[in-house]
Amino acid sequence: MKVHLIRSEGFKIEDYNNVFNILNQYSGGITFVPSEPIVLPDTDREITYDDKGEYGEQILGTKLSVDSFEDRSFPVTEPVYSWCDLFSVCNQYRIDNRIPSDEQVFLLTDKKNAQNWFGAMDERTLNNFFVDCSDWHNYFKGFDIRFPITYCISGWLLRKVIFASGDEMRAAVHKKSIGCLMDFCQEKKEIALKMRTADICDQCLSYSEKNDSNRVYMNQLMQIMDGVRSNLMFRDRSKYLRTNSRLEFRGMMHKMYLTDLGDLQVNLNPTERALYLVFINHPEGISRADLIDFRSELIKSYAFFSNSSDNNQINEAVDLLTNALEQKLMQVLSRIRRKFKDAVGEDQYKTYSIESHDGKYKILLNRELVSYDANAKLPTR
Ligand SMILES: [Zn+2]
Repeated sequence: MKVHLIRSEGFKIEDYNNVFNILNQYSGGITFVPSEPIVLPDTDREITYDDKGEYGEQILGTKLSVDSFEDRSFPVTEPVYSWCDLFSVCNQYRIDNRIPSDEQVFLLTDKKNAQNWFGAMDERTLNNFFVDCSDWHNYFKGFDIRFPITYCISGWLLRKVIFASGDEMRAAVHKKSIGCLMDFCQEKKEIALKMRTADICDQCLSYSEKNDSNRVYMNQLMQIMDGVRSNLMFRDRSKYLRTNSRLEFRGMMHKMYLTDLGDLQVNLNPTERALYLVFINHPEGISRADLIDFRSELIKSYAFFSNSSDNNQINEAVDLLTNALEQKLMQVLSRIRRKFKDAVGEDQYKTYSIESHDGKYKILLNRELVSYDANAKLPTR
């Protein structure tokens, strides 16, 4: 089964790539296919949300309170799309790219939908979906939004594999949350429970017997959901156990992965990665004034990662970085910091980023947690 993931422009490419990476870690019969970003057509609909309760609720009836959304004042009016609009975007994509009807199309969008759902499936065709990728940080403070989005995608696919029709699916929904995939989660915060159990109850699973669902697909999707769960658990516990994730450098380009956080990739650009490697190689730390002594080490890594054969350009870039009078170093450090903050959250990022301690810049992460795969070889080590 092929699943096309299309991204609307407002959904960050970095988050999109990471969702894609997580989904692709598990093999089975399902392949995920990336796409170029698309621009959503304008919508003339707007909804005014009177309070936090309305804003944080999937529409079904009763209002429930949500104690988040501190960054917003209510009432707030936002443009919304009807489900029909969103599924039309999927259909247009099918036509433009000649995608057969037995392949699935997911629209990952930063726009809200009229019913304020996390996502939905087109019940007429059972092969078009959307997932709302906005606002997740309001349900999970300091949490990486890539995981709930991944959970939603695998969850919808699993529903599709298990149930024979929209009617059957609706009949199975639990209005009161029990920690099953089919919990409705009227109060959006409740999705945290589903993700922590990563489970499906017996009653819902029995449909897979009845419909003789594809077990290979089911297995792959459940593995993805288990991966999200173990990531959540690792984060919850690491706060108290003060454990950090392992960090692995992979391949010639030294791509960086946090292995215990669901193999999350931290996407540093060539300059950031070259600088990071120098600091990883020198756990004792380097003062700003001494960074110039590591110039040749930086040049080797940078030349390698940037793929540039222009020596002047490489020298210039490294000069700028090592010149204590320039702001470049501070800018690069700040970008690295932000990327780790996005990846591991507020509580832990300072262990991974390059921070100043007693006059020296260093990375605190225990080097026993750092490893290199067979292809990550550089002359600097
Ligand atoms: Zn259930």
